[in-house]
Amino acid sequence: MTSQSALFDTYNRAPLGVERGEGCWLHDTDGRTFLDFGSGIAVNALGHAHPHLVSALTAQAGKLWHTSNLYRIPDQERLAERLCAATFADRVFFTNSGAEAVECAVKTARRYYYAKGEPERIGIITFEGAFHGRTLATIAAGGQAKYLEGFGPKAPGFDQVPFHDMDALEAAITDETAAILIEPVQGEGGLRPVPDETLRALREICDTHGLLLIFDEIQCGMGRTGRLFAHEHAGIAPDIMATAKALGGGFPVGACLATEEAASGMVPGVHGTTYGGNPLAMAVGNAVLDVMLEDGFLDAVEQKALRLKQGLVSLVDRFPDIFSDVRGKGLMTGLKCVVPNTDVVRALFDGHMLVVPAGDNVIRILPPLIVSDEEIGEGLARLEAAARGLSSRTGA
Ligand SMILES: *Cc1c(COP(=O)(O)O)cnc(C)c1O
Repeated sequence: MTSQSALFDTYNRAPLGVERGEGCWLHDTDGRTFLDFGSGIAVNALGHAHPHLVSALTAQAGKLWHTSNLYRIPDQERLAERLCAATFADRVFFTNSGAEAVECAVKTARRYYYAKGEPERIGIITFEGAFHGRTLATIAAGGQAKYLEGFGPKAPGFDQVPFHDMDALEAAITDETAAILIEPVQGEGGLRPVPDETLRALREICDTHGLLLIFDEIQCGMGRTGRLFAHEHAGIAPDIMATAKALGGGFPVGACLATEEAASGMVPGVHGTTYGGNPLAMAVGNAVLDVMLEDGFLDAVEQKALRLKQGLVSLVDRFPDIFSDVRGKGLMTGLKCVVPNTDVVRALFDGHMLVVPAGDNVIRILPPLIVSDEEIGEGLARLEAAARGLSSRTGA
């Protein structure tokens, strides 16, 4: 069906005109209310219209919107310092989106070797099922045919290996390899967590071969798995990391974090952005951190994740004709479906609950991290109702 609007026809949009939201709830222009367990694809980590974020944004809106990066932006320096204090990193570059944060990560890695006199080292090893964004370089990094098709030659320098094959990985390393790039929990690819021991093995391989390790924590970072960043569960750190989505709680902002060493090639003039890290984005990013770094916030995420997971396991047990597996980590969770995942998404939509489809026939259940126990119960009840409806249709 061709859409009637003047927009590019690149989205198959659900019949829902968004109007306003609060917390886990989204109201549409027809007066309907939806339980939003998609969080705008893991972005609205603090729910809709969180009072602290609203006041930070509106206060900043009355002061200063934009200056460019030709001048010092004190809140940008502050957010960078806070992110570094909370992570492995020493340096931060702010962007407007996730894809730009990955682009910056790739450029940082290549530039590191260039500055060391090894300009031939441009290769980035990535993994099947990965998703790193929709720019020309990040579709090459993701390597998925459906995103590459029709957009000209694939950007060179990205080599993809199977998800769980360390031998293939070792075999792909050459004298021209610069880095390994991986999502600690694959999002789009179907909520596949990389086992902690694999992440530790990747760190070791990078150390052995003198490669940089890059994590794409755009979706799994910023509290989603119960730690500020998902790799913390494995007790290792990357050299470079991209994050975005929940960092702005809905305001567009991304960041590339790096160690002092890894960032050493990024000297004045080699990279830039007009908007990245502007005062509005930085006010909101600092406000998001205020909430997430509060004592007990991340522990509460783990508690809620446990409650949700128990409910999901029970759904898999009771509706084996609809669901086959619980996927994910923390509140980055979901269900592998037996029936087409789009049928489940539609049945939930009809029950006024929003979730997000993913690859591998999975539905992503990504509630705001501030979700209450009652709202988790409500979500499970709506999932059960949808499963019951689908189950009677499949005749099981
Ligand atoms: C969403 C996402 C991106 C791309 O972010 P955009 O803001 O859409 O450019 C990249 N990597 C991962 C893992 C993502 O989930």
